[in-house]
Amino acid sequence: MKTEKLAELGGPKSVTQDPGDIFRWPIVTAEDEQAVLEVLRRGSMSGNDVTKRFEAEFAEWMGMQFALAYPNGTEAIRAATWACGVGAGDEIICPSMTYWASATQALSMGATVNFADIEADTLCIDPGDIAHRIGPRTKAIVVVHYAGYPCDMDAILRIARKHNVRVIEDVSHAQGGLYKGRMLGTLGDVGAMSLMAGKALAIGEGGMVVTNDRAIYEQCVAYGHYERTGGPARWTEPDAAVTIPQLKVFAGLPIGGYKHRINQTCSAMGRVQLKHYATRMAEIQKAMNRFWDMLEDTPGIRPHRPPEDSGSTMGGWYCPRGLYRPDELGGLACRLFCQAVRAEGVPMCQEGAVLPLHLHPVFNEADIFRQGRPTVVAFGQRDVRQGPGTLPVSESIDEITFAVPWFKHDRPQIIAEYAAAYRKVAENAEALLQKT
Ligand SMILES: *Cc1c(COP(=O)(O)O)cnc(C)c1O
Repeated sequence: MKTEKLAELGGPKSVTQDPGDIFRWPIVTAEDEQAVLEVLRRGSMSGNDVTKRFEAEFAEWMGMQFALAYPNGTEAIRAATWACGVGAGDEIICPSMTYWASATQALSMGATVNFADIEADTLCIDPGDIAHRIGPRTKAIVVVHYAGYPCDMDAILRIARKHNVRVIEDVSHAQGGLYKGRMLGTLGDVGAMSLMAGKALAIGEGGMVVTNDRAIYEQCVAYGHYERTGGPARWTEPDAAVTIPQLKVFAGLPIGGYKHRINQTCSAMGRVQLKHYATRMAEIQKAMNRFWDMLEDTPGIRPHRPPEDSGSTMGGWYCPRGLYRPDELGGLACRLFCQAVRAEGVPMCQEGAVLPLHLHPVFNEADIFRQGRPTVVAFGQRDVRQGPGTLPVSESIDEITFAVPWFKHDRPQIIAEYAAAYRKVAENAEALLQKT
């Protein structure tokens, strides 16, 4: 293998087979179609009978008392953030390296975000970069199990309990993943997640909040599930699960004007997807672990997965990454490594991930409430903005990680070709360095 010339330098490509359906996701069968059709034919898209069944099954799957469905993950996280007591002038802490919908919603509450750095080995929030950011107005820490990797929850929860700050788990990348044997989303005060069609647990467009905290659940109901607080009509009874007396005062109107009911076609698909998820997730884990096992001892690249005996897993392995170690490859830039892997027939191999949020104009300049000053500092007592150079690991994302194929089926021959592409480039780094 090592002697073969890189495809970028005129050699043969590593990947030659048709991948077939190995990447196709979500897996939609006649069972999903039937479930969705049933909702359409009944005309019950805006009801909540199917949704409530989906929620009950979801809560049971996660071993949680309460599950509340949302039209998307953004709204699920918005509600969870508000339910944790976040309001005007407050702060939340969130890793800079995440999709914007982990934390941008806080701005809509007049709150602001103090971004923390990530760890280079896990790509998750660095527990050592949290405590010094906690101030008198800090209400919550949003943690993201990034690309499926479980955050260091023991350390995070210790800090949060000590400072009396809530923990919101953004589980959008890690449905069904485990931290030391416990399911992600069940460890903090509340779990919230996206279930949109690109995620590992994909139901169309959707989101979910899970919690064992009745007050958080009821705040979420009050915020956007107005039909459950006593109904838009005066004669509708509130949901039996809703008990906070004040909520009855607000019956029929959502606090703040949000509408959070999911389309039941998605709940119907969600019930079917959830039923099959454990089996499909296990298949993904077999395939992805096989890929990384094939790459053991390859210089310059490391798997992004917890140690085998840790009891922690990558769930459905959403958006899988590898970790890059240029010092083992003579300093070859990650961008050039990825370019050569793409030439081998792996189109998804890109360096980095999303752009760090702390540098984005929305968190520096945007005047959302049209007050004549940036919203990020308009309500708070201190300026939490951080310029370039302040969160070095997040800012180095293009040099420390790269994308790998997201296999949905364990097909050793196909997986071997993709693994060979990465190994070939790593073992021929010298040739690439000479070229540049
Ligand atoms: C996808 C995603 C969201 C937002 O979910 P939507 O369903 O797209 O609204 C939030 N957080 C993370 C980390 C995500 O990847």
